[in-house]
Amino acid sequence: MEILKRLLAPRGLPPTKDGYQAPPDALAEGWVCDDPDCGEAGYFAAPRPGIPRRCQVCGSGTYPRHAWPWQHGERRAELDALLDEAERKDDEILAVLVRFHLLTWTFEDHLMNGHRRDAMAALSDTDARLRETMSGDRCFTEGSYRFALVLGALRSGDPDIALRVLEPWVALAREQGPGYGTDLESDNASRTDYRCLVSACIEWLRDARTPADPRYGTVVGWVLDTARAPHVRNWLTADHDAALTVLDPRWGSGH
Ligand SMILES: [Zn+2]
Repeated sequence: MEILKRLLAPRGLPPTKDGYQAPPDALAEGWVCDDPDCGEAGYFAAPRPGIPRRCQVCGSGTYPRHAWPWQHGERRAELDALLDEAERKDDEILAVLVRFHLLTWTFEDHLMNGHRRDAMAALSDTDARLRETMSGDRCFTEGSYRFALVLGALRSGDPDIALRVLEPWVALAREQGPGYGTDLESDNASRTDYRCLVSACIEWLRDARTPADPRYGTVVGWVLDTARAPHVRNWLTADHDAALTVLDPRWGSGH
């Protein structure tokens, strides 16, 4: 009877590499092989309650890649494991990066729980730390973290909160001049920062809630200004170009 019950019970997803066990109703958007030498992964067209038990290439076991919102729990376990590893190996560079990922995770976690005030406190803490780290290390790339804050605000909060991330970021970029005050041609960190700012504005403009927002035009101005800054336009991606052409049909003609 016990065996029958177990066979008939919903299977649920197995734990991840870092030990995150999702609740029984969780869905996966894909799977990844548990053998790092193989690294095979698959994605589903739509989230599913189960994953293949064996890797389709090498036959080893599999880990789930969770769909949202369970991905949030999976991510936390991954970041905790990475921080443990960084501290164990005395790897301060990795530790700094992981701590910033944890800050952006915490910001979104507060939003997911409806704790807006805590989210704002986490945001201003993250902003202060990014400024401090940027001033001490010109190779540090803050853009990917600020981009994660904008995505988190749109996904788990609202466009207003996302603007609380974007507005000071735009001001910072303008203050520091094109290329964050450096020569973009030889400065990979600044190029990444600028691309992230352009991407973040585009994400905000693409959100279903923003076309009616009175600040839509302001954000269009921000993204076009940033993208047109000397050197920046040469380092944008084809996706950026496509999105900018929708916003300004003259974009591609060099005006
Ligand atoms: Zn495999």
